[in-house]
Formats: sequence, structure tokens, C-alpha cells
Amino acid sequence: MQTIWVIYDQLWTGNSAFSGYTAGTSRVLMIESDASFRKLPLHRIKLAFFISAMRHFAEELEAAGWQVDYHRHGDTKDYQSAIRSHVEKFRPSSIRVLAPNDYALQQAIPALEKKCGVPIESVPTNQFLLSREDFAKWAGSGKSLRMENHYRAMRKSLRILMTRDGEPEGDTWNFDAENRGTVKDWEAAGTPRPSPAPEIRRDEITERVIFEVNDAFPKHPGDANNLWLPTTRGEALTWLRHFVEHRLGLFGPFEDLMIEREPLLFHSVLSPMLNIGLLTPMECVDAAVAALRSETPPPLRSVEGFVRQIIGWREFVNGVYWLRMPEYHAVNALAAEIPLPDWLWEGTPPMHCMEMAVTQVRDTGYNHHIQRLMVLGNYFLLTGCRPQEVLDWYSAMYVDAHDWVMAANVLGMVLYADGGFMASKPYAAGAAYISKMSDYCNGCRYKPNVKTGPEACPFHSLYWAFYDRHQTRFAKNPRVAVMIGSWKKRTLDEQNEIRNTAAAWIATHHPN
Ligand code: FAD
Ligand code: SF4
Repeated sequence: MQTIWVIYDQLWTGNSAFSGYTAGTSRVLMIESDASFRKLPLHRIKLAFFISAMRHFAEELEAAGWQVDYHRHGDTKDYQSAIRSHVEKFRPSSIRVLAPNDYALQQAIPALEKKCGVPIESVPTNQFLLSREDFAKWAGSGKSLRMENHYRAMRKSLRILMTRDGEPEGDTWNFDAENRGTVKDWEAAGTPRPSPAPEIRRDEITERVIFEVNDAFPKHPGDANNLWLPTTRGEALTWLRHFVEHRLGLFGPFEDLMIEREPLLFHSVLSPMLNIGLLTPMECVDAAVAALRSETPPPLRSVEGFVRQIIGWREFVNGVYWLRMPEYHAVNALAAEIPLPDWLWEGTPPMHCMEMAVTQVRDTGYNHHIQRLMVLGNYFLLTGCRPQEVLDWYSAMYVDAHDWVMAANVLGMVLYADGGFMASKPYAAGAAYISKMSDYCNGCRYKPNVKTGPEACPFHSLYWAFYDRHQTRFAKNPRVAVMIGSWKKRTLDEQNEIRNTAAAWIATHHPN
């Protein structure tokens, strides 16, 4: 009998490793690797989510007649020990696995084969819409890649939102410019709020997992009791339908908005399920496009905005990861060397916008994209935090975090640590952006429009000090050269005051 090894983030039977195998001819191996769960202090909601989804999937397989050799984290040191014990017990002729999504695990397979004494066949992944090889072909040997070009190529090849003449529907490739509703726009629209996400049923498996996680990982952040996500395919499909029916319509217009006590707004929260195989990217895209063809369609700008995230960004960051690993993990083009502040892990962040994002992720393991990019990420970029520490923090805290998706988002998009390989400019912003796109500044001890003195928003000095530090690098970048020009026009006294204020902030809040 052969074995199919199902890794924790590949939980669906459409997984190509199952292809051609049946319950009668093969057995499934599933491993909760304790070592993997402890590499970083992973949020306890994330651990409970992974483990509960794995155990539910194993139960579904068994109900369908599969024999599952399941290794629980309490009894399982790591992948090697579990595979070895599986081989000793069942003597499979070979093990087949879908190519791991994680570079380190993919690289570990030859050693696992050798140490466990069994051939391990890794089959190309079908968890993405574009293969690693096809992405590499598309990328060629360019010094930089742009998501927009990749996205257009994907729209054409998959024929999504394209007219018969091969033109984009709505005569434009994207509605980004329209999809930047501000707090004022939201107020003008009558402050619409999303209907609550569907409630998740807690069965015996989930209750048991929650107890185990809180017991076994007491020092990890979060509380597994607050698990709020679907852990079965059935529930994930309900979650997808609910998003399409109730939130997709306003997703586009308010994609970039941040409102206190509205952690999800009109975002889908599909990434946790997509990233472990409970949903496939194409069925999410199909559901949104089907809604567009229905009698009460959401606006095209919302559907396009959503499709863009899935076939554009999601595929793009995965492609960049496989193209640039392993050296991508070590990039630090801006020579950022400031340690992360302790208040990311515990205590109260000193700025209200940071407090909102950080307390939300501690409570739920989730922030939407703009909180990740333009509040937290912006802060890490401007203060010059060490890329690898930032990567570890995000990777530990987010329920949807996996190395393949974090690396390009954090190192490339947020920190510009790859020197512009995937972003044409740094995503640096001052207080004006946060105050326009959120209601956070109302509750802050600082004022977004005050530039000096104790009430001055720290983003002001941090923003200009960033361009001061990197003026040589960015002077010729057409997208930000104007900022360097503006910095240079300031008097020396003004420049010195900004430098000193930013330096004092960093010295106070980021001690070594
Ligand atoms: P929506 O806003 O509803 O978007 C729909 C879907 O599009 C998402 O579910 C996701 O699958 C996909 N998507 C959108 N943007 C991206 C992107 N930039 N990269 C990859 N997929 C994208 N995404 C993760 O899946 N896991 C992460 O750990 C993760 N970490 C991030 C860290 C930083 C610093 C940044 C800037 C972005 C990160 N993203 C990550 C991308 C994006 O923020 C999340 O996918 C999104 O916020 C998930 O919430 P949602 O499902 O409500 O997304
Ligand atoms: Fe953030 Fe500045 Fe607004 Fe305070 S004033 S919430 S620090 S942007």
C-alpha cells in the first residue's frame, strides 16, 4: 500500500497527491508536528485553527473509507519521527505528497527520504492557479516584477472578466482609483456596516483542540477560546457565500478604510481557509463572478477588486517566493537595523492607530490588508525595523500567515527590503493618510496635523526622517523623487528638528 502524506495546509481531496489513489489502495498520513508549531510563538487561535481543521479533515476522510494514520502534536516530536514510525508500522512502498508550500519543508524532503528509508514523491502543487515554473517563465530574468503585469496576463489566460473581444470588462483593467473610499465617503454613504460573519459551530473536536492548545502552548500569544473561523470545508463554503451575498458589494469602495470596532469591514476573511486548502482560489473567484451575472449584481468595481486580490496578488507573492528563495529571506536593501518594540508582544502601543491594529491581532489573529500595510507595515518601514524580526512577528501573529505569503508581502511590499524587486516605491505614508482613511486619530493622544511639540503625530517626523536616510536611493525614483525634493527644500533647522525627534522616538520606543 502507498501512503499519501497530507500536510497541515493542504486539506482537500482535490489535492493532486490523491489523484489516481483510492481508499482501498492507499493510506493517509497526517502529522501535527510539535517542532513546527514551536518554531515561532504562533498565535493560539492560529494553532487551534490548524489543528481543528486537520482533525476534521481526517474525520471526513475516515467517514469516506480512508485509513488515516494520524499523529497528534502531544505525541509527535517532528515530521521525521512521525514518518519514521509510520514506515515502521505500515511499510508503505512509497509516500506521495503535494509539493510543500513552504520552501524549508520542500528542501527537507530528500533528507526525510534518507532518514526514514522510504521514497517520497512530491507532486506539483495544484493549490495555486499558476505553477511555479509558469511564473518563472513569465518573470524571465527581469530585475523587477510588477503585479499589475502579472494580473493582466492572468486575466487574459484565465479569461476572467474579459469581453469576447479580449478587452477587460468595464473598459479598464482595474478600479483602484475608485476603490479608495475615505472616512468622509463612508460617512456620506450613511456609515454602512457589515452584517456579522456566520457563527461557527463548536463541536467536540474543536472544544478538545482549544483545551489542548491553551494547555500546551501557554506562552504563545492569544487565547484559543476565541477561535472564530470555519474549520471544515462545509463551513468555509458557507463563509464564502455569506461574503459574496453580504459584503462583496461594498468591498471595492471601502477596501482601504479602517474603522474602530469594525475589524473586518467588507473584507472576505477567506485567506485563512484558502491557505490551508479548505477553499480553492478558483471557487472564490467563480463565486464573485457568478454574483456579477446574477439579477442583483454587486458593482463591477467590487468584483474586479476582489478577483484582483486572488488571481493577482495571491498568485504573484507565491510566484515571487519560489523565484527568489532561499536568498529572499535574508534581503535587507535599506540596511534596517532597529529592533522591534516590546509593546508589539505585550503592553499598550503608544499610538492609537498602532494600538487598534495590535490589540485586534492579539485578540483575533487578523487585521485587514490596510492595517497590515499602511499602519503596522508603515511604522516598521519608517522606523527601520529589522526585516527578519518583522517577518517573524507577522508570521507568528496572523491566522493566515505562511512563509510563502509572508515573505514577499513583508520583505518586498512592506519593507522594500528587496530593493524594489516587487514594489515600484516604498509604501511610506504620513499621518495624513491614516487620518483620511481611518477614524483612529480621533482617539489618539497625538494630532495628525500637528507637526512639532508633544502633540505632534510621530508619523510626521518618522516619515521625513525615512526620506532623509534614503534620499540617495530614492532621488531618481519617479514615484517618490518629489518627496526628496520637498525634504531638501526645508531649512537646516527644520531638518535637524525632524531628525532629532525621530531619533528620540526610536531611542525611547525601540531600546536594544
Ligand atoms: P481580502 O481583502 O478580502 O482579499 C481577498 C483575498 O485576496 C484574500 O483572502 C487573500 O487570499 C488574497 N490577497 C489579497 N491581497 C493579498 C496579498 N497581498 N498577498 C496574498 N494574498 C492576497 N495574506 C495572507 O494570506 N497571509 C498572510 O500572512 C498575509 N500577511 C500579510 C502581511 C502584510 C504585511 C501584508 C501587507 C499583507 C499580508 N497578506 C497576507 C495579504 C493580505 O493582507 C491578506 O491576504 C488579507 O488581508 C487577508 O484578509 P481577507 O481574506 O479578508 O482579504
Ligand atoms: Fe496614528 Fe498619528 Fe493618527 Fe495618532 S495621530 S492615530 S499616531 S496617525
